Amino acid sequence: MSVYTKLLASLHTLLYGNVCIACGEPISDVMHGMCTHCRYAIPETNYWKHASNPIMERLEGLMPFEHASALLFYAVESDWRKLIHSFKYGSSWHKAYSMGRWYGYALKESPYYADIDVIVPVPLHYKKIARRSYNQSQYIADGISKVMGVRVDGSAVCRVVNNPSQARLERDRRWNNVDSIFAVRHAERLRGKHILLVDDVLTTGATIISCANAIVRAVPDCRISVAVLAVTRHIIKG
Ligand SMILES: [Zn+2]
Repeated sequence: MSVYTKLLASLHTLLYGNVCIACGEPISDVMHGMCTHCRYAIPETNYWKHASNPIMERLEGLMPFEHASALLFYAVESDWRKLIHSFKYGSSWHKAYSMGRWYGYALKESPYYADIDVIVPVPLHYKKIARRSYNQSQYIADGISKVMGVRVDGSAVCRVVNNPSQARLERDRRWNNVDSIFAVRHAERLRGKHILLVDDVLTTGATIISCANAIVRAVPDCRISVAVLAVTRHIIKG
């Protein structure tokens, strides 16, 4: 998008309030915060429609789960990658919420997510929250919650290790997270529930595996499903 277009978009936002969250073009339909072009161009995985998919194949044997899906593919140099970066590293939390709502509409149509009891965003360490002021996965979870009508529990699970090294993550994956980076603070709130574990991007899968295993160790009678906003294509190729 050119500087001129950005200027126009900013002016439009000032005057009319809305631009597309993906491409930044002015929009009149505010339903999903996206322009018509981006709504059709979104690289959806459609994984939530199928009994099995490449993410589930990837997680199989590494954590217990009912179903797992992603809304879209995380392609390098795409508007979608920029969008995710804008709330993962920037301050555009409202875009995380909008994308969460979009995902909520998809999950609401899926039979595999029909009996979700509670939505749990993958937590950030409190030091990271203090520095960044918010957890983007919390806003994605809030967006999904708004559409699905299921509550979010953002404090039952916490992150006890900040910025684990890749080596540590790899070790966690191999050894099934004996040395976990997450802890369950309120197991009683998750007992017997079908939990929807929400994160922004699935890359190696190590974070979600670590978090899920911490939950089932503390709450053995729960069931877990996974909803990540985006998945990198390399995880699919293994
Ligand atoms: Zn757009």
